[in-house]
Amino acid sequence: MENWKDSYVRDILSTHLLTQIPLSPRRNYASIVVLREFESTAVLTTEGERLDVEVVRAGQKQTELISRVLLQKRKQVAMERRTGRAFNRKLGWADECDFMSKMCGSCPDCLIYGFAASSSEGSQKSRILTDSGFSIRPYDALQRSITLNAIQDRTQGGVAGSAFAEREHIRPQAYFPTIETAVDVTPSEFAYILRNILTTTRYGAENQRQGFVKNHLVALLFGETEVISNLALVQHLYDRLAEENSGSINEVPLDLQTLKTRMEELLSDIAEEAYLPVQLYTGESLQNILQGLRFLWRNEEAKHEWLQELKNDQQTYLEKRENKGKKEKKGKGKKKEES
Ligand SMILES: [Zn+2]
Repeated sequence: MENWKDSYVRDILSTHLLTQIPLSPRRNYASIVVLREFESTAVLTTEGERLDVEVVRAGQKQTELISRVLLQKRKQVAMERRTGRAFNRKLGWADECDFMSKMCGSCPDCLIYGFAASSSEGSQKSRILTDSGFSIRPYDALQRSITLNAIQDRTQGGVAGSAFAEREHIRPQAYFPTIETAVDVTPSEFAYILRNILTTTRYGAENQRQGFVKNHLVALLFGETEVISNLALVQHLYDRLAEENSGSINEVPLDLQTLKTRMEELLSDIAEEAYLPVQLYTGESLQNILQGLRFLWRNEEAKHEWLQELKNDQQTYLEKRENKGKKEKKGKGKKKEES
């Protein structure tokens, strides 16, 4: 039986990632390319009735302007953090951690996704870089207004009437290609981040229990540099799809497998053009990693070992940071005495 320490996944991850969380930035990047597919209608509004849209060029070759639906950056990460925090609570790791009032500063969520300290005791910058995602196709092809019939009690006269509120929804099977980049994380931390991404299923307006999303992992990229933004990714993809469909994809139903294949191809081209070495995992090599993770999360013994390592990694970091803080304080005190 395979444990975590000798597993293929950990082996691969440790060739690309740091073995310890560094005290100062090393810029060791691990990018996770996810194709997010909405499997139900969803509300993607920040406030009010309109979908969040942005006018951008359709592609890098196809330069006409189109309005794309936005999947806000904070909406992506907030939902995934929730998955992680629920996991932490289950493990008894986050009893002291309250997202709304006081964050503990020592659980995986605080240390990976960051937190702001209320007092002088060190805050943590997020080690996850994200941006808002863009829909592949324009807004017109995606939106639909749904009228909500809200029955309201009218106190005056006691007559029940209805109020009509219209909210824009996106149609099911809208795709958002996005990249989340982890910086200076260890293999155990990276597995934690992947768990959050692969097991989060609900995105969109928070008070609505809808917006089922399937996160398809398309690629992992390891290297000393980031290679592509969400916008460039969607534009390159648009170009390739438009080429195949005589210039426009607004009327054609998108096919998941085609999208994945085109993304793999373009990422491979982008990785080739990078100034610094980039390691790309797609297709079978990626499937092997996913298979390993599946085993890890479903096997109690391996999972326990992984979580132990996660705890150790972060504990070591916290101790190092504390010692450094003490030294700096001492140094400052000395200088004062001298002057
Ligand atoms: Zn915490």
